[in-house]
Amino acid sequence: MSNSYEGMVPSVPYLKIDSTGEPYIAGSQCGKCGQIFFGERTICARCADRTSMQAMRLGETGKLYAYTVIHRSFPGVKTPFVAATVELDGGGVLKGTLLEVEPDPAKLAFDMPVRTVFRDSGQKDQDGRPYLNYYFVPAGA
Ligand SMILES: [Zn+2]
Repeated sequence: MSNSYEGMVPSVPYLKIDSTGEPYIAGSQCGKCGQIFFGERTICARCADRTSMQAMRLGETGKLYAYTVIHRSFPGVKTPFVAATVELDGGGVLKGTLLEVEPDPAKLAFDMPVRTVFRDSGQKDQDGRPYLNYYFVPAGA
C-alpha cells in the first residue's frame, strides 16, 4: 500500500503524504485549551493563544454530524452527492464528500460511523499527475 499514492498530488494543503507514503489529514492542537483543528494553524481560534499550536495527524474515523445532498455542482462533477461534516474521533471537525451511500436523507443517519479513505479524485493537474483526495465512507464499507 505504501507506494500506491506515489506521484499523486494532494488536492488540498492539509492532505499530506508521510515519509512512508501514507496519506493523512494534518491537524493542529492548541496546547493551552486542547482544541483541535484541521490544517496547520499558528493561532487558536477558540482561545486565541499564539504560542502553543502543535501539528498532529487527525483520526481517520468519526461520526456524521451534518450533511447536505448536492444536486448541482461544477461542470463534470457527478450529482447528486453527499457533502458531509464529520466529527472525528480524537477531535477535530472535517468536511468532505461521503461516498458509498445513497444520496437520500432516508438512508443517512446522524452520528452514523464513518471513516476517511484516500482516493484518486479522477482529475489531473497540468502535468498530468492525478490528484489525491480524501473522502468519507460508512465505517463498515
Ligand atoms: Zn486554544
